[in-house]
Amino acid sequence: MTMEKVDLRSDTVTLPTPAMREAMLKAPLGDDVFGDDPTVLALQDRIAELTGKEAALFMPTGTQSNLCGLMAHCQRGDEYLVGQHAHTYRYEGGGAAVLGSIQPQPLTQDAHGLISLTDLALAIKPDDAHFARTSLLALENTWNGKRMPMSYLQQASQLAREHGLAVHLDGARVMNAAVDQAANNGTDPLVELRQITSLFDSVSVCFSKGLGAPVGSALCGPRALIQKAHRARKMLGGGMRQSGLLAAAALYALNHHVARLAQDHVLAQRLATGLQGIPGLSVRSADTNIVFVDVAHGKASALLAHLQQEHVLATGMIGLRFVTHLDVDAAGIDHAVASVRRFFQSDANGASTAQLHGGPY
Ligand SMILES: *Cc1c(COP(=O)(O)O)cnc(C)c1O
Repeated sequence: MTMEKVDLRSDTVTLPTPAMREAMLKAPLGDDVFGDDPTVLALQDRIAELTGKEAALFMPTGTQSNLCGLMAHCQRGDEYLVGQHAHTYRYEGGGAAVLGSIQPQPLTQDAHGLISLTDLALAIKPDDAHFARTSLLALENTWNGKRMPMSYLQQASQLAREHGLAVHLDGARVMNAAVDQAANNGTDPLVELRQITSLFDSVSVCFSKGLGAPVGSALCGPRALIQKAHRARKMLGGGMRQSGLLAAAALYALNHHVARLAQDHVLAQRLATGLQGIPGLSVRSADTNIVFVDVAHGKASALLAHLQQEHVLATGMIGLRFVTHLDVDAAGIDHAVASVRRFFQSDANGASTAQLHGGPY
């Protein structure tokens, strides 16, 4: 088979387009630790404007962006409320605790990623020497591709503020949320983006996911907070020099790759529709650009291996995850569906007696 690979492991696997590379080559550069890189400054101004914040800071990764945000909000001995399955709690090496001396208070999330308002309220500690100081609520949008309802974001952030907490958004894929919300409401994604970000003190946005830049994120927020984050970024080793080369890619992505996220969402639906009804597999969720499937008991790793042989890449252990992005097209999705179908049609993998695994993974 000479077919090009269909890499659905993540939206981080995209390669910079020729036009993006050209923008990178042409970017005026300087030493950003001296504050001299015009392209970094332009990117920071642009993303601050888009998110409706006073200032922004270019970061090498989303992990560092979230950590700098948490460290800017919280002192040593503070705690932040966060979902049990949230990226900042679960997938960032425990950085808030390890490097920030910030205690996480993880809370149960429902199937849509929401923490109940009752749980949130109960987790806010009174001012008492026994307790860490609860000073921040961190939410994530999208979460597992799911867009958080505006009404929930409003209620949760209002609750936090009533108790004197600040509110941070891990908006690694907030552009996907904005584009999906706009499609739903028949509005402009950038208007929806502002609606979302207006509910948060600080927002971290990834350029390296669906937006298609090779590297980078930004933390956006009030100027004083961003100054604190700037100090944390330096301490964490994130002071970069001629980083305008990378900022140029991010700036290009903001100008050219936001509205097109809608195509990734259409492709995710195309994939989910194609997979529906294949015996041995069930689509658990398909939101924005991410599709999760449950696979007949014990078949996931064999399915992954089969897909890989047919040049389709996905991730998963018990179930599978597929992520669409600007380097896959409808033909690639149709090939992936056909490949899954072939796996379950072969006798060895017949699913007639197999159980579907329903648990979380
Ligand atoms: C990818 C991601 C991050 C940051 O990841 P990096 O790989 O450090 O850039 C943070 N939060 C969420 C929800 C993410 O998906």
